[in-house]
Amino acid sequence: MNAGADQHFPLKTLHRRLTVLGSTGSIGLSTLDVVAHARAHYGGDAFPIEALTAQSNVEALAEQARRFRPRLAVVGDKRRYADLKHALSGQDIEVTAGRDSVTEAAGRDSDAVMVAIVGAAALEPALAAAHRGTIIALANKECVVAAGDLFRTALAASHSTVIPVDSEHNAAFQLLDFAQAHAIERVTLTASGGPFREWPRERMAGATPEQAVAHPNWSMGAKISVDSATLMNKGLEVIEAHVLFALEPARLEVIVHPQSVVHCLVSYSDGSTLAHLSAPDMRTPIAHALAWPSRISSPSLRLDLARTGQLTFEPPDLERFPCLALARHCLHVGGSAPTILNAANEIAVAAFLGGKIGFLDIAAVIEDTLASGYDGARTGLADLAGVRALDAQARDIAGQFCRRRAA
Ligand code: NAD
Ligand code: MG
Repeated sequence: MNAGADQHFPLKTLHRRLTVLGSTGSIGLSTLDVVAHARAHYGGDAFPIEALTAQSNVEALAEQARRFRPRLAVVGDKRRYADLKHALSGQDIEVTAGRDSVTEAAGRDSDAVMVAIVGAAALEPALAAAHRGTIIALANKECVVAAGDLFRTALAASHSTVIPVDSEHNAAFQLLDFAQAHAIERVTLTASGGPFREWPRERMAGATPEQAVAHPNWSMGAKISVDSATLMNKGLEVIEAHVLFALEPARLEVIVHPQSVVHCLVSYSDGSTLAHLSAPDMRTPIAHALAWPSRISSPSLRLDLARTGQLTFEPPDLERFPCLALARHCLHVGGSAPTILNAANEIAVAAFLGGKIGFLDIAAVIEDTLASGYDGARTGLADLAGVRALDAQARDIAGQFCRRRAA
Protein backbone atom coordinates (compact mmCIF):
# COMPACT_ATOMS: atom_id res chain seq x y z
CA MET A 1 0.00 0.00 0.00
CA ASN A 2 1.24 3.50 -0.77
CA ALA A 3 2.36 5.85 1.95
CA GLY A 4 -0.46 8.21 2.74
CA ALA A 5 -3.15 5.82 1.61
CA ASP A 6 -5.85 4.70 4.02
CA GLN A 7 -4.27 2.86 6.93
CA HIS A 8 -7.26 0.62 7.38
CA PHE A 9 -7.41 -1.55 4.35
CA PRO A 10 -10.62 -3.46 4.91
CA LEU A 11 -11.38 -3.55 1.26
CA LYS A 12 -11.15 -7.10 0.06
CA THR A 13 -13.19 -5.94 -2.89
CA LEU A 14 -10.15 -4.02 -4.16
CA HIS A 15 -8.63 -7.34 -5.16
CA ARG A 16 -11.48 -8.21 -7.44
CA ARG A 17 -10.29 -9.40 -10.82
CA LEU A 18 -12.16 -7.37 -13.43
CA THR A 19 -13.24 -7.87 -17.00
CA VAL A 20 -14.13 -4.67 -18.81
CA LEU A 21 -16.35 -5.13 -21.87
CA GLY A 22 -16.31 -1.98 -24.03
CA SER A 23 -13.17 -0.58 -22.41
CA THR A 24 -12.54 2.06 -25.10
CA GLY A 25 -15.95 3.76 -24.75
CA SER A 26 -17.04 6.52 -22.44
CA ILE A 27 -17.93 4.19 -19.54
CA GLY A 28 -14.94 1.94 -20.28
CA LEU A 29 -12.54 4.87 -20.05
CA SER A 30 -14.13 6.07 -16.82
CA THR A 31 -13.88 2.54 -15.42
CA LEU A 32 -10.16 2.35 -16.14
CA ASP A 33 -9.76 5.82 -14.64
CA VAL A 34 -11.35 4.53 -11.42
CA VAL A 35 -9.00 1.51 -11.54
CA ALA A 36 -5.95 3.75 -12.11
CA HIS A 37 -6.99 5.94 -9.19
CA ALA A 38 -7.49 2.90 -6.95
CA ARG A 39 -4.03 1.58 -7.87
CA ALA A 40 -2.43 4.97 -7.13
CA HIS A 41 -4.36 5.30 -3.88
CA TYR A 42 -4.33 1.77 -2.47
CA GLY A 43 -1.51 0.05 -4.33
CA GLY A 44 -0.73 -1.35 -7.75
CA ASP A 45 -2.40 -4.68 -7.05
CA ALA A 46 -5.88 -3.14 -6.85
CA PHE A 47 -8.36 -4.43 -9.43
CA PRO A 48 -6.19 -6.78 -11.51
CA ILE A 49 -7.66 -7.04 -15.02
CA GLU A 50 -8.64 -10.35 -16.59
CA ALA A 51 -9.80 -9.03 -19.96
CA LEU A 52 -10.39 -5.85 -21.93
CA THR A 53 -12.61 -5.80 -25.02
CA ALA A 54 -13.40 -3.22 -27.69
CA GLN A 55 -15.15 -3.31 -31.04
CA SER A 56 -12.61 -1.79 -33.43
CA ASN A 57 -10.39 0.85 -31.85
CA VAL A 58 -7.27 -1.31 -31.73
CA GLU A 59 -4.93 1.59 -31.03
CA ALA A 60 -6.79 2.62 -27.86
CA LEU A 61 -7.26 -1.00 -26.78
CA ALA A 62 -3.55 -1.82 -27.22
CA GLU A 63 -2.55 1.25 -25.24
CA GLN A 64 -4.94 0.28 -22.42
CA ALA A 65 -3.62 -3.28 -22.47
CA ARG A 66 0.00 -2.12 -22.15
CA ARG A 67 -0.96 0.08 -19.24
CA PHE A 68 -3.41 -2.15 -17.33
CA ARG A 69 -1.86 -5.56 -18.15
CA PRO A 70 -4.94 -7.74 -18.74
CA ARG A 71 -4.43 -11.45 -19.40
CA LEU A 72 -6.60 -11.12 -22.51
CA ALA A 73 -7.38 -8.37 -25.03
CA VAL A 74 -10.25 -8.88 -27.49
CA VAL A 75 -11.25 -6.89 -30.53
CA GLY A 76 -14.82 -7.50 -31.71
CA ASP A 77 -14.09 -6.75 -35.35
CA LYS A 78 -12.22 -9.82 -36.66
CA ARG A 79 -10.59 -7.78 -39.40
CA ARG A 80 -8.57 -5.96 -36.74
CA TYR A 81 -7.07 -9.14 -35.23
CA ALA A 82 -3.70 -8.87 -36.97
CA ASP A 83 -3.36 -5.21 -35.97
CA LEU A 84 -4.04 -5.97 -32.32
CA LYS A 85 -1.74 -9.00 -32.35
CA HIS A 86 1.01 -6.86 -33.85
CA ALA A 87 0.43 -3.97 -31.42
CA LEU A 88 0.69 -6.35 -28.45
CA SER A 89 3.49 -8.59 -29.70
CA GLY A 90 5.94 -9.49 -26.96
CA GLN A 91 3.58 -8.26 -24.24
CA ASP A 92 2.55 -11.68 -22.90
CA ILE A 93 -1.12 -10.77 -23.39
CA GLU A 94 -3.44 -13.23 -25.09
CA VAL A 95 -5.18 -11.74 -28.12
CA THR A 96 -8.46 -12.89 -29.67
CA ALA A 97 -11.02 -11.39 -32.06
CA GLY A 98 -14.65 -11.66 -33.12
CA ARG A 99 -18.10 -11.47 -31.59
CA ASP A 100 -17.88 -14.90 -29.99
CA SER A 101 -14.53 -14.03 -28.46
CA VAL A 102 -16.11 -11.04 -26.69
CA THR A 103 -18.73 -13.39 -25.25
CA GLU A 104 -16.03 -15.91 -24.30
CA ALA A 105 -14.15 -13.13 -22.49
CA ALA A 106 -17.29 -12.36 -20.48
CA GLY A 107 -17.60 -16.05 -19.63
CA ARG A 108 -14.00 -16.40 -18.40
CA ASP A 109 -13.44 -16.60 -14.70
CA SER A 110 -13.24 -13.19 -13.03
CA ASP A 111 -14.76 -11.60 -9.93
CA ALA A 112 -16.64 -8.81 -11.68
CA VAL A 113 -17.56 -7.83 -15.22
CA MET A 114 -18.18 -4.25 -16.29
CA VAL A 115 -20.69 -4.41 -19.14
CA ALA A 116 -20.01 -1.15 -21.01
CA ILE A 117 -20.71 -2.25 -24.57
CA VAL A 118 -23.32 -0.07 -26.29
CA GLY A 119 -26.56 -1.51 -27.64
CA ALA A 120 -28.13 -4.96 -27.69
CA ALA A 121 -24.75 -6.31 -28.84
CA ALA A 122 -24.08 -6.62 -25.10
CA LEU A 123 -26.77 -9.28 -24.74
CA GLU A 124 -24.70 -12.44 -25.32
CA PRO A 125 -21.71 -11.23 -23.28
CA ALA A 126 -23.96 -10.05 -20.42
CA LEU A 127 -25.76 -13.40 -20.39
CA ALA A 128 -22.44 -15.27 -20.45
CA ALA A 129 -21.37 -13.34 -17.36
CA ALA A 130 -24.78 -13.80 -15.71
CA HIS A 131 -24.74 -17.57 -16.29
CA ARG A 132 -21.40 -18.16 -14.65
CA GLY A 133 -22.26 -16.41 -11.38
CA THR A 134 -20.27 -13.23 -10.86
CA ILE A 135 -20.70 -9.57 -10.02
CA ILE A 136 -22.05 -7.70 -13.00
CA ALA A 137 -21.44 -3.96 -13.00
CA LEU A 138 -24.12 -3.16 -15.53
CA ALA A 139 -23.84 0.05 -17.54
CA ASN A 140 -25.54 -1.29 -20.66
CA LYS A 141 -29.31 -0.90 -20.51
CA GLU A 142 -30.27 -2.09 -23.98
CA CYS A 143 -29.72 -5.76 -23.13
CA VAL A 144 -32.06 -5.50 -20.14
CA VAL A 145 -34.73 -3.79 -22.24
CA ALA A 146 -34.37 -6.21 -25.17
CA ALA A 147 -34.37 -9.37 -23.07
CA GLY A 148 -35.66 -8.58 -19.59
CA ASP A 149 -37.13 -12.02 -18.90
CA LEU A 150 -34.08 -13.88 -20.19
CA PHE A 151 -31.79 -11.71 -18.14
CA ARG A 152 -33.84 -12.13 -14.99
CA THR A 153 -34.00 -15.90 -15.47
CA ALA A 154 -30.24 -16.14 -15.99
CA LEU A 155 -29.60 -14.13 -12.83
CA ALA A 156 -32.04 -16.17 -10.77
CA ALA A 157 -30.41 -19.43 -11.87
CA SER A 158 -26.87 -18.35 -11.01
CA HIS A 159 -25.17 -16.61 -8.14
CA SER A 160 -24.65 -13.46 -10.15
CA THR A 161 -25.31 -10.08 -8.60
CA VAL A 162 -26.09 -7.06 -10.71
CA ILE A 163 -24.87 -3.71 -9.45
CA PRO A 164 -26.38 -1.08 -11.73
CA VAL A 165 -23.97 1.51 -13.08
CA ASP A 166 -26.52 3.68 -14.89
CA SER A 167 -26.47 6.64 -12.50
CA GLU A 168 -30.20 6.66 -11.67
CA HIS A 169 -30.29 2.92 -11.07
CA ASN A 170 -27.10 2.95 -9.09
CA ALA A 171 -28.69 5.68 -6.97
CA ALA A 172 -31.88 3.61 -6.63
CA PHE A 173 -29.83 0.57 -5.64
CA GLN A 174 -28.25 2.64 -2.87
CA LEU A 175 -31.62 4.05 -1.71
CA LEU A 176 -33.90 1.03 -1.96
CA ASP A 177 -34.53 -0.87 1.25
CA PHE A 178 -35.33 -4.26 -0.24
CA ALA A 179 -36.34 -5.61 3.18
CA GLN A 180 -39.16 -3.05 3.15
CA ALA A 181 -40.28 -3.67 -0.40
CA HIS A 182 -43.94 -3.46 0.64
CA ALA A 183 -43.36 0.13 1.78
CA ILE A 184 -41.85 1.43 -1.46
CA GLU A 185 -44.45 3.76 -2.95
CA ARG A 186 -42.54 5.36 -5.74
CA VAL A 187 -39.17 5.44 -7.44
CA THR A 188 -38.52 8.65 -9.37
CA LEU A 189 -35.78 8.72 -11.97
CA THR A 190 -34.47 12.15 -12.89
CA ALA A 191 -33.78 13.22 -16.48
CA SER A 192 -31.62 16.17 -17.46
CA GLY A 193 -34.00 16.96 -20.32
CA GLY A 194 -31.10 16.88 -22.78
CA PRO A 195 -29.90 19.64 -25.09
CA PHE A 196 -33.37 20.29 -26.56
CA ARG A 197 -35.24 20.62 -23.28
CA GLU A 198 -36.47 24.09 -24.16
CA TRP A 199 -36.69 23.72 -27.94
CA PRO A 200 -40.08 23.84 -29.68
CA ARG A 201 -40.75 20.89 -31.97
CA GLU A 202 -40.34 22.98 -35.12
CA ARG A 203 -36.77 23.73 -34.09
CA MET A 204 -36.10 20.10 -33.15
CA ALA A 205 -37.09 19.10 -36.68
CA GLY A 206 -33.86 20.67 -37.93
CA ALA A 207 -31.61 19.45 -35.07
CA THR A 208 -28.27 18.08 -36.29
CA PRO A 209 -26.36 15.10 -34.87
CA GLU A 210 -23.72 17.52 -33.54
CA GLN A 211 -26.38 19.44 -31.61
CA ALA A 212 -27.96 16.23 -30.33
CA VAL A 213 -24.74 14.77 -28.95
CA ALA A 214 -23.75 18.01 -27.19
CA HIS A 215 -25.19 17.07 -23.83
CA PRO A 216 -25.34 19.89 -21.27
CA ASN A 217 -24.14 17.86 -18.23
CA TRP A 218 -22.67 14.52 -19.25
CA SER A 219 -19.99 13.49 -21.72
CA MET A 220 -21.14 10.17 -23.17
CA GLY A 221 -21.07 7.96 -26.26
CA ALA A 222 -22.99 9.16 -29.33
CA LYS A 223 -25.88 6.69 -29.06
CA ILE A 224 -26.83 7.43 -25.45
CA SER A 225 -26.37 11.15 -26.11
CA VAL A 226 -29.02 11.01 -28.84
CA ASP A 227 -31.20 8.90 -26.53
CA SER A 228 -30.89 11.65 -23.93
CA ALA A 229 -31.90 14.26 -26.50
CA THR A 230 -35.06 12.31 -27.46
CA LEU A 231 -35.71 11.24 -23.81
CA MET A 232 -35.70 7.64 -25.07
CA ASN A 233 -32.84 7.18 -22.63
CA LYS A 234 -35.27 7.80 -19.76
CA GLY A 235 -37.82 5.53 -21.39
CA LEU A 236 -35.25 2.72 -21.61
CA GLU A 237 -34.33 3.46 -18.00
CA VAL A 238 -37.90 3.10 -16.77
CA ILE A 239 -37.98 -0.37 -18.36
CA GLU A 240 -34.51 -1.10 -16.94
CA ALA A 241 -35.72 -0.17 -13.44
CA HIS A 242 -38.77 -2.39 -13.86
CA VAL A 243 -36.57 -5.37 -14.78
CA LEU A 244 -33.78 -4.80 -12.27
CA PHE A 245 -35.90 -3.93 -9.24
CA ALA A 246 -39.13 -5.82 -10.02
CA LEU A 247 -41.15 -2.64 -9.56
CA GLU A 248 -44.58 -2.22 -11.11
CA PRO A 249 -44.70 0.38 -13.88
CA ALA A 250 -47.15 2.53 -11.88
CA ARG A 251 -44.51 3.04 -9.19
CA LEU A 252 -41.91 4.33 -11.63
CA GLU A 253 -41.88 8.02 -12.35
CA VAL A 254 -39.73 10.44 -14.28
CA ILE A 255 -39.01 14.06 -13.45
CA VAL A 256 -36.88 16.50 -15.42
CA HIS A 257 -34.05 17.96 -13.35
CA PRO A 258 -31.71 20.00 -15.57
CA GLN A 259 -28.79 20.12 -13.10
CA SER A 260 -28.35 16.30 -12.95
CA VAL A 261 -27.39 16.43 -9.28
CA VAL A 262 -30.26 14.41 -7.83
CA HIS A 263 -30.23 11.07 -9.66
CA CYS A 264 -33.09 9.19 -8.06
CA LEU A 265 -35.72 9.61 -5.34
CA VAL A 266 -37.29 6.72 -3.44
CA SER A 267 -40.54 7.42 -1.59
CA TYR A 268 -41.75 5.20 1.24
CA SER A 269 -45.21 4.69 2.71
CA ASP A 270 -44.42 6.73 5.84
CA GLY A 271 -44.03 9.84 3.68
CA SER A 272 -40.22 9.79 3.63
CA THR A 273 -38.50 10.46 0.32
CA LEU A 274 -34.79 9.64 0.10
CA ALA A 275 -32.65 11.21 -2.60
CA HIS A 276 -29.22 10.37 -3.97
CA LEU A 277 -27.03 13.31 -4.96
CA SER A 278 -23.67 13.50 -6.65
CA ALA A 279 -21.91 15.60 -9.22
CA PRO A 280 -22.77 14.35 -12.73
CA ASP A 281 -19.71 12.12 -13.09
CA MET A 282 -20.07 8.44 -14.01
CA ARG A 283 -16.93 7.58 -12.05
CA THR A 284 -19.06 7.79 -8.87
CA PRO A 285 -21.52 4.99 -9.74
CA ILE A 286 -18.67 3.03 -11.37
CA ALA A 287 -16.56 3.19 -8.18
CA HIS A 288 -19.60 2.20 -6.15
CA ALA A 289 -20.34 -0.78 -8.38
CA LEU A 290 -16.73 -2.03 -8.53
CA ALA A 291 -16.21 -1.92 -4.77
CA TRP A 292 -19.71 -2.76 -3.54
CA PRO A 293 -20.49 -3.40 -0.71
CA SER A 294 -17.36 -1.47 0.31
CA ARG A 295 -16.71 2.12 -0.63
CA ILE A 296 -13.48 3.28 -2.19
CA SER A 297 -11.85 6.55 -3.08
CA SER A 298 -12.85 7.74 -6.55
CA PRO A 299 -11.42 10.51 -8.72
CA SER A 300 -14.96 11.81 -9.39
CA LEU A 301 -15.94 15.45 -9.26
CA ARG A 302 -17.34 16.39 -5.86
CA LEU A 303 -20.69 17.96 -5.22
CA ASP A 304 -20.66 21.71 -4.50
CA LEU A 305 -24.25 22.71 -3.84
CA ALA A 306 -23.44 26.31 -2.99
CA ARG A 307 -21.93 26.58 -6.43
CA THR A 308 -24.79 24.74 -8.11
CA GLY A 309 -27.14 27.18 -6.38
CA GLN A 310 -30.49 25.91 -7.51
CA LEU A 311 -31.96 22.49 -8.05
CA THR A 312 -35.04 22.67 -10.24
CA PHE A 313 -37.61 20.09 -11.28
CA GLU A 314 -40.33 19.98 -13.94
CA PRO A 315 -42.59 17.32 -15.45
CA PRO A 316 -41.45 15.77 -18.76
CA ASP A 317 -43.25 17.06 -21.86
CA LEU A 318 -44.47 13.90 -23.59
CA GLU A 319 -45.75 15.81 -26.63
CA ARG A 320 -42.37 17.24 -27.51
CA PHE A 321 -40.61 14.04 -26.42
CA PRO A 322 -42.84 11.20 -27.65
CA CYS A 323 -40.07 8.59 -27.20
CA LEU A 324 -40.66 8.57 -23.45
CA ALA A 325 -44.37 7.92 -24.02
CA LEU A 326 -43.54 5.15 -26.51
CA ALA A 327 -41.28 3.43 -24.00
CA ARG A 328 -43.89 3.68 -21.26
CA HIS A 329 -46.42 2.21 -23.66
CA CYS A 330 -44.08 -0.71 -24.40
CA LEU A 331 -43.50 -1.34 -20.71
CA HIS A 332 -47.27 -1.43 -20.23
CA VAL A 333 -47.83 -3.76 -23.20
CA GLY A 334 -44.92 -6.01 -22.22
CA GLY A 335 -44.09 -9.14 -24.20
CA SER A 336 -42.03 -8.37 -27.27
CA ALA A 337 -42.78 -4.63 -27.27
CA PRO A 338 -39.63 -3.53 -25.34
CA THR A 339 -37.47 -5.75 -27.62
CA ILE A 340 -38.93 -4.07 -30.71
CA LEU A 341 -38.72 -0.62 -29.16
CA ASN A 342 -35.02 -1.07 -28.46
CA ALA A 343 -34.19 -2.51 -31.86
CA ALA A 344 -36.11 0.20 -33.74
CA ASN A 345 -34.47 2.87 -31.61
CA GLU A 346 -30.96 1.56 -32.31
CA ILE A 347 -31.65 1.58 -36.06
CA ALA A 348 -33.30 5.02 -36.03
CA VAL A 349 -30.54 6.59 -33.92
CA ALA A 350 -27.86 5.14 -36.24
CA ALA A 351 -29.76 6.53 -39.25
CA PHE A 352 -30.01 9.94 -37.59
CA LEU A 353 -26.30 9.95 -36.66
CA GLY A 354 -25.52 8.94 -40.25
CA GLY A 355 -27.44 11.94 -41.57
CA LYS A 356 -30.11 9.74 -43.19
CA ILE A 357 -33.19 10.85 -41.22
CA GLY A 358 -34.18 13.89 -39.18
CA PHE A 359 -34.32 14.12 -35.40
CA LEU A 360 -38.11 13.89 -35.21
CA ASP A 361 -38.04 10.89 -37.54
CA ILE A 362 -36.48 8.82 -34.73
CA ALA A 363 -39.74 8.66 -32.76
CA ALA A 364 -41.76 8.26 -35.96
CA VAL A 365 -39.70 5.26 -37.14
CA ILE A 366 -40.07 3.58 -33.74
CA GLU A 367 -43.80 4.23 -33.68
CA ASP A 368 -44.23 2.87 -37.22
CA THR A 369 -42.20 -0.22 -36.35
CA LEU A 370 -44.27 -0.86 -33.24
CA ALA A 371 -47.46 -0.35 -35.22
CA SER A 372 -46.41 -2.99 -37.77
CA GLY A 373 -48.26 -5.62 -35.85
CA TYR A 374 -45.46 -7.02 -33.72
CA ASP A 375 -46.03 -5.42 -30.34
CA GLY A 376 -47.50 -7.52 -27.61
CA ALA A 377 -46.58 -10.87 -29.12
CA ARG A 378 -45.31 -13.03 -26.30
CA THR A 379 -43.96 -15.77 -28.49
CA GLY A 380 -40.27 -16.21 -29.08
CA LEU A 381 -38.96 -14.43 -25.98
CA ALA A 382 -38.21 -17.50 -23.88
CA ASP A 383 -34.77 -18.10 -25.35
CA LEU A 384 -31.95 -16.14 -26.85
CA ALA A 385 -32.64 -17.35 -30.38
CA GLY A 386 -36.22 -16.09 -30.11
CA VAL A 387 -35.15 -12.69 -28.82
CA ARG A 388 -32.52 -12.42 -31.55
CA ALA A 389 -35.06 -13.33 -34.26
CA LEU A 390 -37.48 -10.66 -33.02
CA ASP A 391 -34.69 -8.13 -32.68
CA ALA A 392 -33.51 -8.81 -36.26
CA GLN A 393 -37.05 -8.60 -37.64
CA ALA A 394 -37.66 -5.26 -35.90
CA ARG A 395 -34.31 -3.91 -37.16
CA ASP A 396 -35.26 -4.90 -40.66
CA ILE A 397 -38.65 -3.18 -40.49
CA ALA A 398 -37.20 -0.07 -38.83
CA GLY A 399 -34.55 0.06 -41.58
CA GLN A 400 -37.29 0.07 -44.20
CA PHE A 401 -39.08 2.94 -42.45
CA CYS A 402 -35.80 4.85 -42.25
CA ARG A 403 -35.24 4.43 -45.98
CA ARG A 404 -38.80 5.60 -46.71
CA ARG A 405 -38.26 8.73 -44.64
CA ALA A 406 -34.87 9.36 -46.21
CA ALA A 407 -36.31 9.12 -49.73
P1 NAD B 1 -19.52 4.24 -26.22
O1 NAD B 1 -20.08 4.26 -27.60
O2 NAD B 1 -18.71 5.40 -25.76
O3 NAD B 1 -18.64 2.91 -26.01
C1 NAD B 1 -19.11 1.65 -26.39
C2 NAD B 1 -18.06 0.59 -26.19
O4 NAD B 1 -18.59 -0.66 -26.66
C3 NAD B 1 -16.75 0.81 -26.95
O5 NAD B 1 -15.67 0.30 -26.22
C4 NAD B 1 -16.94 -0.03 -28.22
O6 NAD B 1 -15.71 -0.48 -28.75
C5 NAD B 1 -17.77 -1.19 -27.69
N1 NAD B 1 -18.66 -1.73 -28.73
C6 NAD B 1 -19.42 -1.04 -29.61
N2 NAD B 1 -20.13 -1.87 -30.39
C7 NAD B 1 -19.81 -3.12 -29.98
C8 NAD B 1 -20.19 -4.43 -30.42
N3 NAD B 1 -21.06 -4.61 -31.43
N4 NAD B 1 -19.67 -5.49 -29.80
C9 NAD B 1 -18.77 -5.34 -28.80
N5 NAD B 1 -18.36 -4.13 -28.34
C10 NAD B 1 -18.88 -3.04 -28.93
O7 NAD B 1 -20.78 4.02 -25.25
P2 NAD B 1 -20.95 4.51 -23.73
O8 NAD B 1 -21.47 5.89 -23.71
O9 NAD B 1 -19.72 4.18 -22.94
O10 NAD B 1 -22.15 3.58 -23.25
C11 NAD B 1 -22.00 2.20 -23.00
C12 NAD B 1 -23.28 1.67 -22.37
O11 NAD B 1 -23.44 2.27 -21.10
C13 NAD B 1 -24.54 2.01 -23.17
O12 NAD B 1 -25.44 0.94 -23.09
C14 NAD B 1 -25.12 3.22 -22.44
O13 NAD B 1 -26.52 3.32 -22.54
C15 NAD B 1 -24.70 2.93 -21.00
N6 NAD B 1 -24.54 4.13 -20.19
C16 NAD B 1 -23.63 5.07 -20.53
C17 NAD B 1 -23.49 6.23 -19.77
C18 NAD B 1 -22.46 7.27 -20.11
O14 NAD B 1 -22.29 8.23 -19.36
N7 NAD B 1 -21.74 7.14 -21.21
C19 NAD B 1 -24.32 6.42 -18.65
C20 NAD B 1 -25.24 5.43 -18.32
C21 NAD B 1 -25.35 4.28 -19.08
MG1 MG C 1 -28.87 7.14 -16.77
